[in-house]
Amino acid sequence: MTKNPFEAFQKQVESASELLHLEPHIVELLKWPKRVLEVRFPVKMDDGRTIIFTGWRSQHNDALGPTKGGIRYHWDVTKEEVMALSGWMTFKNATAGLPYGGGKGGIRFRDMDGSPINPKELSDAEIERISRAFVDAIAQIIGPEKDIPAPDVYTNPKIMGYMVDEYSKLRGYWAPGTFTGKPLSIGGSEGRGTATARGGFFILKEALKTVAMKFEGLTAAVQGFGNAGSYEALFLYEAGVKVVAVSDSKGGIYNGDGLNIPEVMQFKAERGTVVGFPGAEKISNSELLTLEVDILVPAALENQITVDNAEDIKAKFILELANGPTTPEADEILYKNGVMVLPDILANSGGVTVSYFEWVQNITGYYWSEEEVDKRLSEKMKVAFKHVFEAAKEFGVDMRKGAYVSSIRRVVEAMKDRGMI
Ligand code: NAD
Repeated sequence: MTKNPFEAFQKQVESASELLHLEPHIVELLKWPKRVLEVRFPVKMDDGRTIIFTGWRSQHNDALGPTKGGIRYHWDVTKEEVMALSGWMTFKNATAGLPYGGGKGGIRFRDMDGSPINPKELSDAEIERISRAFVDAIAQIIGPEKDIPAPDVYTNPKIMGYMVDEYSKLRGYWAPGTFTGKPLSIGGSEGRGTATARGGFFILKEALKTVAMKFEGLTAAVQGFGNAGSYEALFLYEAGVKVVAVSDSKGGIYNGDGLNIPEVMQFKAERGTVVGFPGAEKISNSELLTLEVDILVPAALENQITVDNAEDIKAKFILELANGPTTPEADEILYKNGVMVLPDILANSGGVTVSYFEWVQNITGYYWSEEEVDKRLSEKMKVAFKHVFEAAKEFGVDMRKGAYVSSIRRVVEAMKDRGMI
C-alpha cells in the first residue's frame, strides 16, 4: 500500500474514473487541487520567542459550491496531506449530497529547529495567537461563499470561536457562516456533537433494510470509545442491539450478554478508560475486530482492517466511522466474503452534514431544534445511502467504489453544467 496520502488519493480517482470512462483532461482536473495557498506567519510564544509556522489551505474542486473541510493542527502536517484531504472532502461532500466542493487546511507544528511541537502542550493564549494569525494569512481565500473551514485533528469549537472572531474583525461585520463547528453561543448547531454517530446509525439502518434485517437482536462490537464510537454504541444499544464489546486506547471489554452502554459511558467519564468495567472480560483491540458479531464499528484509527485479519472478520456489516480504517487489499477480501463495508466517506458524513446545517442556519439567521436537525440528517443520510447503493449495483462494485463513482459523477456533471469543461 502506498504511504503517501496524495498518491493514494490520485490512485482512487484514477480507478473510479476508469469505471466512468472519463476523458483524460477531466481525470487530470480531479487529481489535483484547484488552488493551494502556502503561508508562513510569525507567532510570539509565551516565553518571548517567535516561531514561524507554515500552513496550507487547499481548495480541491468548487464545481458544486464553496469548498469545505477542516483545519488540522499537527507536527506531521504536510502540503501533500492537506491536498489529499481536500480531495477526499470533495468526494465526501458530494456523496452526502451537499452543495459544497472540498477543502482542507493545516498548520505544521514545528519549532524553529524543526522539532515537533505538540499543540496540546501549548497554552490557550498561544493557540489563540496561532489561530488568529493563520486566519489573517488565509482570509483572502475563505468566506461563507468561498471556503468554509471546520475543526479537524487537534482543533475544536473553541478554536473555531477565535477564528470566526478574527475573520469578522478583518471584514468589519459578523460572519458566522465562515466557520462551522462553533460553540452554540456563537452560531453552532444543535446536534453537532452526536452528528457523526447519528449519521452512521441512519446509514446502517438503510443497509439493514436492503437485506430485510432490523436492529433488535443483532450483536455489535465498537473499536474506539470517543466522540464517534461511544455515541454509536449508545444509539445501537438504544435500538436493541446487543453491544458485546467496546474498546479505547487502553484496551477492550467484552460481555457476551451485552454491555450496558450508558453505564460504560459513565465509567469511562470517571476513570478515563472502559477497561476495568465491572462484569466484563478484558480483550485486546485486535481480538475485538474478529469477534462473532453482526456489526463491527471501527471508530478509532486508520489501517485497522488489513490483509492480516480481513479473512477472520465475522461481521456482516462494517460501519466505518473512523477515516481509512480498512486497507484496499482488505476491502477486496471483505467484498469476496460478502461483508458489506459502509465506507468512511458515506458512514461518517453525518458530521459534515450537520456542519452544512450550521452554515444554512448562520446564513438564514434562523436556528433549529435538535429534533429538527436529527430529522433532516436522517433524510440526507437516506438519500446518500441510496445513491451509493445504486451506483455499487450499477457498476457491480463494493460500496466504497460505489461512493467514489457516484460522487465523481456528480462533480463532473456540475463541471459540465457550469461549462468548466
Ligand atoms: P476521539 O478522540 O473522541 O476518540 C477516539 C477514540 O479512539 C478514543 O476512545 C481513543 O481512546 C480510541 N483509540 C485511540 N487509539 C486506539 C487504539 N489503538 N485502539 C482502540 N481505540 C483507540 O475521536 P473521534 O472524534 O471519536 O474520532 C474517531 C475517528 O472518527 C477518527 O478517525 C476521526 O477522523 C473519525 N471521524 C470523526 C468525526 C467526528 O465528528 N467526531 C467525523 C468524521 C470522522
